[in-house]
Amino acid sequence: MRARLPELLADIEELVTCESPSADLAAVARSADVVARVGTRRLGVPPERIVLAGRTHLRWRFGDAPAGVLLLGHHDTVWPFGSLATHPYTVDGEVLRGPGCFDMKAGLAMAIHAVAALADRTGVTILVTGDEEIGSPSSRALIEEEAAGRAAALVLEASADGGALKIARKGVSRYEVRVSGRAAHAGLEPERGVNATIELAHQVLAVSALADRALGTTVTPTVASAGTSANTVPAAGEFAVDVRVRDAGEQNRVDAGMRALMSIVDGSGLRVAGGPNRPPMSEEASADLFARASGLAAGLGLAPLTGVAVGGGSDGNFTAAIGTPTLDGLGAVGGGAHADTEHVLVGELPPRAALLTALIGDLLPTGND
Ligand SMILES: [Zn+2]
Repeated sequence: MRARLPELLADIEELVTCESPSADLAAVARSADVVARVGTRRLGVPPERIVLAGRTHLRWRFGDAPAGVLLLGHHDTVWPFGSLATHPYTVDGEVLRGPGCFDMKAGLAMAIHAVAALADRTGVTILVTGDEEIGSPSSRALIEEEAAGRAAALVLEASADGGALKIARKGVSRYEVRVSGRAAHAGLEPERGVNATIELAHQVLAVSALADRALGTTVTPTVASAGTSANTVPAAGEFAVDVRVRDAGEQNRVDAGMRALMSIVDGSGLRVAGGPNRPPMSEEASADLFARASGLAAGLGLAPLTGVAVGGGSDGNFTAAIGTPTLDGLGAVGGGAHADTEHVLVGELPPRAALLTALIGDLLPTGND
């Protein structure tokens, strides 16, 4: 893998310099072309192009082995179009930067090179989706179908702090709460209005009370808006809610709580949309794979692996929820996902890609070594 580093870096540059914000379908389609080009160059065969609801996903299947290994990644990013102008691709010594480099274009290049280095790829499937950052609305069924019955789903999301693998992830639910009232002039006849901002304030507090800190359940009201002008009693408002849970019971409890919300201000209306998105990924889903990876890392002379439970969800939540052993955070080592400080540590690319090759080989029944 050290010998492959120049090619690996060239591929990461090619991937990062094609911007792919999830919401821009044309950009995601262009990015899929780049991923396909890079992968075809290294793997010798083009991927299948799977377009679902306008979103472009790619799949390489090597042989038909149901008990094989799924490598899972995404090529969309949270970075809006034009981010390359303010956050250009650079490699400065040990540090590589650029929009989406850490989450997770470096991981994609690592997966491609890890599979290219295998002696026998039979039983390997690489799935690269284009809508992970918005909750995988079009790719979820495809991911579950590809993961079903596999020996493992290896997820190329970026590692956690210090290169830790992600061995458990919280489940994620998302809601939109919409309140309605009645507009009136705030100076002339405010008593004729029904104030949606006051109703919204009550609901924000009721929603946040559904959290349970001891159980690790967070319920966070996020984006909020209400009203139309400073001198009008607001007729409508809305806010978004982000929910993170460690277990399915909590996800259901919060969901029931959200659906039981009642309007407080006389005459106001209330509607709740949304629900659970990603189920929690428990440590049981990753324990065997983590032990296996740790043993292989020791055999390769790498530093001991660490694993952490994280609050962020990924497509690994879906593969774990259908019973497929899942290990996540196998992509780049670095930091600053979704932030100005996003970066990848160049020196960690070869050992992590080598670990990936060893892990895939070890999981396949075909006797790679
Ligand atoms: Zn990601």
